[in-house]
Amino acid sequence: MTTDFNRFDLQPQLVQTIDDLGYAAPTPIQSTVIPAMLAGQDVIGQSQTGSGKTAAFSLPILHNLKSGRRHVQSLVVAPTRELAIQVADAMHTYGRQIGVRVLAVYGGQPYNLQISRLKKGVDVVVGTPGRLLDLIRKNVLKLDQAATVVLDEADEMLSMGFIADIEAILDQTSSSRQTALFSATLPQRILRLAAKYMN
Ligand code: AMP
Repeated sequence: MTTDFNRFDLQPQLVQTIDDLGYAAPTPIQSTVIPAMLAGQDVIGQSQTGSGKTAAFSLPILHNLKSGRRHVQSLVVAPTRELAIQVADAMHTYGRQIGVRVLAVYGGQPYNLQISRLKKGVDVVVGTPGRLLDLIRKNVLKLDQAATVVLDEADEMLSMGFIADIEAILDQTSSSRQTALFSATLPQRILRLAAKYMN
């Protein structure tokens, strides 16, 4: 393996997959976020689409997954169905050698499919705020054992009016969770959310 990703203490299967994908070197956000998340820290990343932020948070999450658990180990909250699907696909790709079970949930999709997948066991859930809350209220999505929560494109979620939903979702997770927040801009309301929910 020749990739610069060797310098992170990631599982060999993840480094191999990154190598197979042809990523030669980490992007700046990956160089900063991957070691911080592997060290267990909360992170705020100010970043745009195209910066490589998805791999930046996905690789540490995948590295820390335990196989065969019945509970959700990680949650990613995204503003739109398109982004939720894109992130879930990326995690599935990065985690293909470790057999990660990723589920995207979003409005407009029938509940029964999402519910039966959740009942079978899912490692990572990626979803839009409204549907995540619906599944929590139906008692089929339990987040109390999620070790890591990612808020992706937080400023988009703010402008779409999702902040109260995000707070309600975070209130269902353990206070010992690791939290990572990514946003192109960091308006006051996002900083207040971070101050309340992040270390
Ligand atoms: P993102 O900003 O996460 O949406 O990623 C943007 C694009 O960059 C995606 O198509 C990734 O596959 C690609 N990408 C992410 N990290 C790297 C890297 N280190 N080297 C090359 N391409 C990358």
